[in-house]
Amino acid sequence: MDIPKKMKAVVLMGPNKLEIKEVDTPAPGPQDVLINVQATAVCGSDVSLMAKPWEAQPPYGSFIIGHEYAGIVAAVGATVDEFQVGDRVAVEASYGCGRCRNCRLGYYTACLNYGNRQRGHRANGFTTNGGFAQYAVNHINTVHKIPDSVEFTEAALITNLGCILYGFQTIGGYVVGDSVAVIGPGPLGLISVGVARALCAEKVFLVGTRDSRLQMGKTMGADRLINIHQENPVEVIRKETQGIGADLVIESSGATTGPQMAVEMCKRMGKVLLVGYPEEPAPVNFSMMGMRNVHIFSVRGEGWANCGRGISLLSQGRISLKPLATHAFPLGQIEEAFRTFTERIGGAIKVIVHPNES
Ligand SMILES: [Zn+2]
Ligand SMILES: [Zn+2]
Repeated sequence: MDIPKKMKAVVLMGPNKLEIKEVDTPAPGPQDVLINVQATAVCGSDVSLMAKPWEAQPPYGSFIIGHEYAGIVAAVGATVDEFQVGDRVAVEASYGCGRCRNCRLGYYTACLNYGNRQRGHRANGFTTNGGFAQYAVNHINTVHKIPDSVEFTEAALITNLGCILYGFQTIGGYVVGDSVAVIGPGPLGLISVGVARALCAEKVFLVGTRDSRLQMGKTMGADRLINIHQENPVEVIRKETQGIGADLVIESSGATTGPQMAVEMCKRMGKVLLVGYPEEPAPVNFSMMGMRNVHIFSVRGEGWANCGRGISLLSQGRISLKPLATHAFPLGQIEEAFRTFTERIGGAIKVIVHPNES
């Protein structure tokens, strides 16, 4: 593969200010691969860190954003024999540092050297350069081969599936025959529905405010849709679980009312998994939580190599992320892509950018 010295990349120049710039094509280190990026998804995290810098974010004028991408291996580092030029791959964002206690235990999304590049920490699209570019460099630990049956567009969404699988693993994972309630039909909520279905939950509830999003939940495998504007979700779930409540509640709405609603619709000794986080502190009745013995868990990112498990689910046909990729743009229309995502134009759920199309 002929690799040009310069490439086009989306650089964050200031708050909410993106610019397509010609920059040097990065070179892979000894344990890295260079990826010719075919598809990069816009994420809510991008929107958030564009508005206000996140922890250890590279400076304006140099930072290439984007952490959800897939492409073709264009070059490999000196020691790499795990991948070959031409391999189709998807990536996860976090390498971690590989040397702190959490990384050694596999908790690389919770690296204790977060943002410390001196100690080798990398989280592409957060603390190191990402994938809204023609090429990106990734440590091989963050790269997964994808079969020909999985398209780049779908593979670009793998961190979302990896995050939800990480959540299921964190709560114990065994949901066969259980009732699962998901609050918030955003990308993570919709994927939660799909995973609960794939793991053979008995009844999957989806709670939201927009009928179009709720209908997408049906496509992903929800049994019962609850529009908050029409029904009381706590009452419905109690009633339809013989007064018991859901075994597992996944809060992905990020609304300040979400965590408390989750506790109320959860059964005694049930579990609440938080994957969406409100910007403001959210009130939770902890004595209700304690009296009902509800367990609360949180996850950030796609830990424990769950992106690889996600690719397995995709290739087995147990879940499809294709319905979520509603819109696509070439790199030159990056502003349009972000606007379509944030304003949900045309019912946008996930918006894909093709960095090698102009
Ligand atoms: Zn993301
Ligand atoms: Zn670490």
